[in-house]
Amino acid sequence: MKMSRLLAPTLREDPKEAEVVSHRLMLRAGMIRKLAAGIYTFLPLGLRVLSKVSAIIREEMDQAGAQEVFMPALLPAELWQETGRWGIYGKELFRIKDRHDREFCLGPTHEEIITDLVRNQVRSYRQLPLTLYQIQTKFRDEVRPRFGLMRGREFMMKDAYSFHANDASLEEEYRNMFKTYCRIFDRMGLNYKVVEADSGAIGGGFSQEFMVLADNGEEEIFYCEKCGYAASRESAGIGKYKGTATSVAGSVVKEIHTPGQKTIEEVSAFLKVKPEQMIKTLIYETEKGAVAALVRGDHEINEAKLKKMLGVEDLKLADEKVIEKITKAPVGFAGPVNLKGVRILADQAVTLIEDGVTGANKKDHHLMHVAYGRDYKAEVVGDLRFALHRDTCPKCEQGHMAVTRGIEVGHIFKLGTKYSEKMKATYLDEGNQEKTLIMGCYGIGVGRTAAAAIEQSNDKDGIIWPMAIAPYLVDIVPANTEEPEQMRVAQDIYKALGREAVLDDRPERIGVKLKDADLIGFPVKVIIGKALKEGKVEIKLRKTGEVKLVEVGKAAEEVAKLVG
Ligand code: ATP
Ligand code: MG
Repeated sequence: MKMSRLLAPTLREDPKEAEVVSHRLMLRAGMIRKLAAGIYTFLPLGLRVLSKVSAIIREEMDQAGAQEVFMPALLPAELWQETGRWGIYGKELFRIKDRHDREFCLGPTHEEIITDLVRNQVRSYRQLPLTLYQIQTKFRDEVRPRFGLMRGREFMMKDAYSFHANDASLEEEYRNMFKTYCRIFDRMGLNYKVVEADSGAIGGGFSQEFMVLADNGEEEIFYCEKCGYAASRESAGIGKYKGTATSVAGSVVKEIHTPGQKTIEEVSAFLKVKPEQMIKTLIYETEKGAVAALVRGDHEINEAKLKKMLGVEDLKLADEKVIEKITKAPVGFAGPVNLKGVRILADQAVTLIEDGVTGANKKDHHLMHVAYGRDYKAEVVGDLRFALHRDTCPKCEQGHMAVTRGIEVGHIFKLGTKYSEKMKATYLDEGNQEKTLIMGCYGIGVGRTAAAAIEQSNDKDGIIWPMAIAPYLVDIVPANTEEPEQMRVAQDIYKALGREAVLDDRPERIGVKLKDADLIGFPVKVIIGKALKEGKVEIKLRKTGEVKLVEVGKAAEEVAKLVG
């Protein structure tokens, strides 16, 4: 490609809207342009990166025995209604109507569509297992589209789905996909960690996320310094607490007037008690009725854990009216003592509070010297809060948890029969019995992976692409395009290197051309300048800055070795 022809509008200044380095550099390097919030056009360089990421994914998925298909992005509501997700998916789903007023959505993920395909096309156990995948545009109306390709509203995803006759077969394919994902991210030269994850809106059983480690990644990763357990913030467990509840000897519960003091901060300041001593009481509504969840004042409730403990899908904080009805007090004075008519669930840390403080279920009043077991009880005690740095590891129960940051690039799930059961997707087993299909699903964000590679590898001058996904591998830079000899040599090397080379034939100063080269991040530069008098050219590596002088006749061969 000749640089004079390439549409790569590089920018000298940092664009104001870009908060993270990958977004900034992709804009500056002329790879992407924003059309609307979370919606981008890929320019030639950006598209080449995307295509290389897709090509690696495709090769490895094919190698792993998966078959590529291509499903529509425009999806009829009926299939989503079959699984109930039309209601549950909420505002993230782009919903539209056709001219006959029939409802559709733009696909955010394709479990329903693939399950429909397979229930119609697969009849017998002989056709199983089966893994299908596609690389396709997804649509999600994210609450906060940001960080460029990291969190778009229209983005490219590889999604794969597997179908099985039994759990052992799912287990085998899940492991196969796990290994395939490792190969994909290894080939891209990424530094990542695999963590246990919450299944979110896709649901099902066990799931793991592939996290590219990066300082300003959106996700917190908790890992045990001793046994290697790693989990996302959402799903990081906490080791069982040892010891039992105690109360301060001789204390009795005392009601205190706390006018207008509602939040943990207000009450703890007013009563001069630490937030650790306070029992935070949160009232939730679920499809199985209202519940009260208790966590320590300085802890944050984890709603995913609460959902799991309750076995519910729909959970939301109760509104004022419901709270007043249950606690008989305005919001801000709820507490577990003498709380009737709701199930009470407690985080384990709450039961160990000595000398607790909590709401009195009475306007402007709190209770002091409250103790678990003596003054109130919970129906279930367990792990209900977000993990913190230094918590005990839930796996080895010995090590402590450390925290690092990452970007979720891939997610693999064991779905089980979550979709197939609701959609009656069955097959006939060896004894001609009708059985429900067992499923797995496996996603990779294509654009997000490219952005994550930049987050992991860049410097003040620009992007440092891993060789495998660089838009072009080599930039050939004649110092002065007016010098016929320099141009002749440059053309020769360019021809010898073929499709992965760019020739910077612009009549620009050498400084400008090298700045653009570093910004775009070509792994190798061939600079044809002063040394040509001695019959030599410079070969420079973007990653290390290493420079080598080689004879003109050997340049192409040398470059081929470096990028090979
Ligand atoms: P997140 O928690 O970041 O919203 P998710 O759990 O909703 O991600 P999945 O439904 O598992 O994501 O989608 C599979 C993959 O698609 C993710 O691992 C991620 O790489 C990518 N992805 C998800 N949402 C977006 C988005 N809004 N923009 C770009 N890529 C995305
Ligand atoms: Mg999401």
